[in-house]
Amino acid sequence: MGIAADYLGRFHSIHLPSPQRGGQPWRITWNAPLHADRVRVRAWTCDCRAVFYELCHASGQGFIRKTVQGEHGQRMVSESDRVRVKDAQALWEALISGHAR
Ligand SMILES: [Zn+2]
Repeated sequence: MGIAADYLGRFHSIHLPSPQRGGQPWRITWNAPLHADRVRVRAWTCDCRAVFYELCHASGQGFIRKTVQGEHGQRMVSESDRVRVKDAQALWEALISGHAR
């Protein structure tokens, strides 16, 4: 993982691996976004993909935000349930290692 520039010179962040085989993937429930005054994004996957994810903190809780980018620049945002920050971190690690979706 890490940051690498491709031939266009843009910088990329994390790309999700293909889902891992074996075992049951952790199924994330995606909900309509809740309003929050102050969301801090702690980590993110690369937005060069049609779907990207962000690990967010708000009001002392953690959650993952999923953004689906349409062909015409429209974005559809959904969010996981809000959980304890450390549970959100565990979910994030499962997601970026291909064990959750
Ligand atoms: Zn990328």
